[in-house]
Amino acid sequence: MIINILSGKGGTGKTTVSTNLAFLLRNEGLNVQLLDADVEEPNTHIFFDIDFYEERSVDLLLPVVDKEKCTLCGECGKVCQFGAIVVFPTTVMVFDYLCHGCGACTMVCPEKAITEKPKSIGKISYGMTKEGIAYGMGLLNIGEPSGVRIIRELKKGMRKDVDVTIIDSPPGTSCPVVESLRKSDFAVLVTESTPFGLHDLKMALNVVEEMGIKHGVVINRYDPAFKDMEVFLNSKNIPILMKIPFDRKIAEHYSKGKIFSAYIPEWKEKFLEMYERIKGLIA
Ligand code: SF4
Ligand code: SF4
Repeated sequence: MIINILSGKGGTGKTTVSTNLAFLLRNEGLNVQLLDADVEEPNTHIFFDIDFYEERSVDLLLPVVDKEKCTLCGECGKVCQFGAIVVFPTTVMVFDYLCHGCGACTMVCPEKAITEKPKSIGKISYGMTKEGIAYGMGLLNIGEPSGVRIIRELKKGMRKDVDVTIIDSPPGTSCPVVESLRKSDFAVLVTESTPFGLHDLKMALNVVEEMGIKHGVVINRYDPAFKDMEVFLNSKNIPILMKIPFDRKIAEHYSKGKIFSAYIPEWKEKFLEMYERIKGLIA
């Protein structure tokens, strides 16, 4: 079972949900895997003591044009969907920061004037936490435009011999989120009780509905005075899986890099109930 934890915007408590869920399910004896696909700012590792056993670079293959062979025919520029290779009257230019490394320009070049050079855009690492959670994490280099390839590579290395995989998605609703959601069985959308939270939740809901992924919502920093959230979710028949109120004790544990449900027993039950509910919704 692959459970994806996402949110329409950053800072809503996605990491809190994914780390607590992974920890508690492992504590219940399940084989659990946690993948941090929030590659611009992975932070689930802060909550665990991890023994990393593998780390590798993720490369893009960038085109290099041999100006001696190039006839300026224009085919490479026509095929590139990203404007990353442009043919001018006297030369061809490659804009590395726009290139997605798809290889289409190399394939279409009639003169075989394009070769490819690797460029590292980040890395992925795998390890094991001291609790026995299989752990994976992607990290995009600063300045790189897209983490899609890192997420794809991270998921390729995903272990298949576990009971549950929890994926901590990037925030937002763009391509990296879609890549992270692919093949997930369930999406937990984490939001907060504010008009901005509701606005971003609606955008994230569009993505999971479009992809046909079953889903439910966790309302973090729950404020009963903000009624619009529940009115909206009830009107759409979207299950509310859990409400986490603003609680100083929770915030204190989080700020110290601790998993709060390990210290506040009532939350252990709530997370496990949420997991049972997710299983029921998937079935
Ligand atoms: S397709 Fe090849 S030959 Fe044509 S402009 Fe591009 S690099 Fe030059
Ligand atoms: S590899 Fe793909 S994205 Fe990069 S320049 Fe060639 S066609 Fe464009």
